[in-house]
Amino acid sequence: MSARPHILDNLFLSVKSITGVGPRLSKLLEKLVGPCVVHLLWHLPVDVIDRRYCPPLREAKGGVVATVQVTVLEHIEPKRRGLPYRIKCGDGTGVLDLTFFNARGDYLQNQLPVGTQRIISGRLEFYNGYLQMPHPDFIVAPIDRGQIPDIEPIYPMTAGITHKLIYKFIRGALLRAPELEEWLDSAHQKRENWPSWHDAITDVHTPQDETGLSPLHPARMRLAYDEMLANQLTLSLLRLRQKKQKGRTIAGDDALFARALESLPFKLTNAQTAAVADIRQDLQSGDRMHRLLQGDVGSGKTAVGFLSMVHAAGSGCQSALMAPTEILARQHEHKLKPLAEKIGLNVVTLTGRDKGKARAAILAQIADGSAHIVIGTHALFQDDVIFHDLGFVIIDEQHRFGVHQRLQLSSKGAHTDVLVMTATPIPRTLTLTVYGDMDVSRLNEKPAGRQPIDTRLVSNERIDEVIGSIGRKIAAGERVYWVCPLVEESEKLDLAAAEERFRHIQQHYGERTGLLHGRMKPADKDAVMEKFAAGDLDVLVSTTVIEVGVDVPEATVMIIEHAERFGLAQLHQLRGRIGRGSEKSTCLLLYNGNKCSEVAKQRLATIRDSEDGFYISEQDLKLRGAGEMLGTRQSGLPAFRLTSPEHHGDLIATAHDDARLILERDPDLLSARGKALRTLLYLFERDTAIKYLRSG
Ligand code: ADP
Ligand code: MG
Repeated sequence: MSARPHILDNLFLSVKSITGVGPRLSKLLEKLVGPCVVHLLWHLPVDVIDRRYCPPLREAKGGVVATVQVTVLEHIEPKRRGLPYRIKCGDGTGVLDLTFFNARGDYLQNQLPVGTQRIISGRLEFYNGYLQMPHPDFIVAPIDRGQIPDIEPIYPMTAGITHKLIYKFIRGALLRAPELEEWLDSAHQKRENWPSWHDAITDVHTPQDETGLSPLHPARMRLAYDEMLANQLTLSLLRLRQKKQKGRTIAGDDALFARALESLPFKLTNAQTAAVADIRQDLQSGDRMHRLLQGDVGSGKTAVGFLSMVHAAGSGCQSALMAPTEILARQHEHKLKPLAEKIGLNVVTLTGRDKGKARAAILAQIADGSAHIVIGTHALFQDDVIFHDLGFVIIDEQHRFGVHQRLQLSSKGAHTDVLVMTATPIPRTLTLTVYGDMDVSRLNEKPAGRQPIDTRLVSNERIDEVIGSIGRKIAAGERVYWVCPLVEESEKLDLAAAEERFRHIQQHYGERTGLLHGRMKPADKDAVMEKFAAGDLDVLVSTTVIEVGVDVPEATVMIIEHAERFGLAQLHQLRGRIGRGSEKSTCLLLYNGNKCSEVAKQRLATIRDSEDGFYISEQDLKLRGAGEMLGTRQSGLPAFRLTSPEHHGDLIATAHDDARLILERDPDLLSARGKALRTLLYLFERDTAIKYLRSG
């Protein structure tokens, strides 16, 4: 049951409800913009075409878009294949050929019968001295003049939908856009000179010139602010709710903790020690913990998590450690189980792979409390996973999970404390949008003895040389990751590329070469990973499945093919798989020299020259633009439709303060403005946020 206000009903109908959208187009639209009418509204134009130039044909210039009224004079069919179908038109002052390649004559006869008047809009050209217009954008009868926009907004496209259709569908969506009660503070709105929501959404789709496309245009600013405000309200509501809930006091056991510390094969860094102290303090206090542990790849977050769970076990309560993938869950198990056993703690692991009796046995240990530490994947969310007494939840590499899932897991215990561990080096401007007000501990130093990674850019043409050179590394006992690129939207091609590379390298280095990809059975993946970790394989060829968290300190070489196709954050994560031991590591970024743009080269140079995740993410933001960065799967950041943090960075901070103030005055959003804000939350599909309100 959703309490979404009816005024929004039309916006949340399927795109199929728009005239002209059938099953095929609705699928394409869903992919391009989203499933509902409102998502069409969020699809903003990126360019404009000015169609106001209406010259008499005699005076018409070439190379520009024009709109002209003409009489159809004659159809001239092509004499042979490869020539265009021509339609001669005139306006009394001159003539114009409309030309169509691969056109159907009967269709054109229908559209442009000889003797009729038509208004035509498109790009004029001179060909052999004759004025012509190839494939006009608009052909309408004079009575339908209004269908041709003076200034036509141009939208991001996808194959299979014509531009005209997108335009038409968005117009259709605009007709559904209601007038909404204002949720902005009126003084603030006035100061910024922002239009109402309805006017803003209309304006952004009706740009009058290029300035109408600027992220700084008042209408765009307003919509971005709306989006940020919904985001910040959601996070603040979540935070308030968490604060209201009492935590529990988990005192820990100092002796047990001291033994755990001793059992570690290394001494903690200062940053790790400080983070562990923060966390223990949170656990001990009666407030509910809601903390973020942010540390670059290789900074040693796992050890911090482990010690925190030992603390919890000291008070007799259970901990859960959630990993985003099966491989990572198994790896955590592998590392932590022996350490825990040394001090008498029991670790179990539950993933989607566990079935039948084995699963039942694990569930039993979780339910009766004999499992002190429970490691798992999404499988931990299942309803029949019942904890004896879950006191503490750690979510590793959190960007793969949503806020909602975080809550779902913590609700499996009473007053559960939550620690989120992430390596995503989120640019500072974006931290607020992702984490809101969480307390933060940072691991800002790497374990001692690490050597800088020697990163080099190498042209793809030298791939054989590279394959040869890893031979020397292998002979010296080093281990090598070979990463094959992500082929966008085609897992199959990914796989083919990786398999081919695998066979190629196997020819050189024989049986001690392994292959790892996302389509393998989990057990097979583990087996390969374990062999590599144990040193039974020298080279591991893989797709990006190794991206997050995998830890094999003996691996010192990483080759990344088509590095230009990866995001910087992703390259940084990948490279973070090496340089984990005390040996010197090398990373070779292979790139396609011919196809690599200047920006792409700059991005690769950024990676070559820095190992600082924060610096890299900020450069990435600058070079790519946040829209792209936020939208991509790899970044793991929430996708904002209307906000581009490099332009709207200030809005984020304002929205953050605004949200706070609103909830201070009206914590359950019951005032008139509060009700309007509820609509805002629904508009941006923050339905879950409404649940955090007392009278939601
Ligand atoms: P991440 O923060 O990327 O999750 P991990 O927790 O996987 O990093 O740690 C990376 C590697 O560093 C592991 O092999 C771990 O055993 C090791 N490590 C962690 N802390 C220290 C330390 N204080 N001194 C030496 N090595 C450490
Ligand atoms: Mg990790």
